[in-house]
Amino acid sequence: MIRISGVRKSYGSTEVLKGIDLDIPTGETVCIIGPSGSGKSTLLRTMNHLEDISAGSITVDGDLVGYRLKRGKLYELRESEACRRRLEIGMVFQHFNLFPHMTALENVTFAPIKVKRESPAAATEYARSLLARVGLADKEGSYPSKLSGGQQQRVAIARALAMRPKVMLFDEPTSALDPELVGEVLSVIKDLARTGGITMVVVTHEMGFAREVSDRVVFMDAGTIVEVGPPAQVFDTPAHDRTRTFLSAVL
Ligand code: ATP
Ligand code: MG
Repeated sequence: MIRISGVRKSYGSTEVLKGIDLDIPTGETVCIIGPSGSGKSTLLRTMNHLEDISAGSITVDGDLVGYRLKRGKLYELRESEACRRRLEIGMVFQHFNLFPHMTALENVTFAPIKVKRESPAAATEYARSLLARVGLADKEGSYPSKLSGGQQQRVAIARALAMRPKVMLFDEPTSALDPELVGEVLSVIKDLARTGGITMVVVTHEMGFAREVSDRVVFMDAGTIVEVGPPAQVFDTPAHDRTRTFLSAVL
């Protein structure tokens, strides 16, 4: 369970998250939609402490993300400790950033072997099962430069899953892809959502995908959550004018 309580975030004098409250039960898939600049990426990045927060707290299964509590006050973790906790939270970015000098298989096994000290044999076996799961069993020996954008993004998803995260965060995972490659990446994410177990938060501009895959949709605008609900409710009977205006512009 992810619990986001009263989260605020400022850059200088500009407040970009203005008190965010959101609980995401384990295994749920939530899509975050909203206009450019509304704070979607910033919120996602606070969830694995790639951004610090100015107020509030975030916990995953009761453990604070990025902070520890001492005598009623929150103290930011050292980067090494924040990194260790980040291992439980997989993140997939718009630009996949694979290691260019490593094959697909090596990209997936690198962190489990180097960071988690898994045996190369066990890491390789699991990586192969993940590459098969994302439809790339035949590409394990390929370097990123020889893979399409959609294939690279699927390797990036397998790489994140290899750390056996509790939570997967996706920030516009398809927006850097050519249109004909979007579907193959979305179908991998849909498959993960269906299989369950992992809690997933997906920032996306793909409204059809959000409707299909989400347990709940979160609409953000200007640093606040305007509306949260099941996709049919948010898309078909939005409660707020701002949601209606946004949807009529993008649908
Ligand atoms: P998009 O759909 O374009 O990706 P977004 O909803 O993800 O938008 P954010 O990237 O979270 O929006 O940005 C929210 C606000 O915070 C914007 O006004 C942005 O300019 C500002 N912002 C983001 N990162 C920084 C930063 N490092 N320094 C200063 N301002 C920032
Ligand atoms: Mg963004």
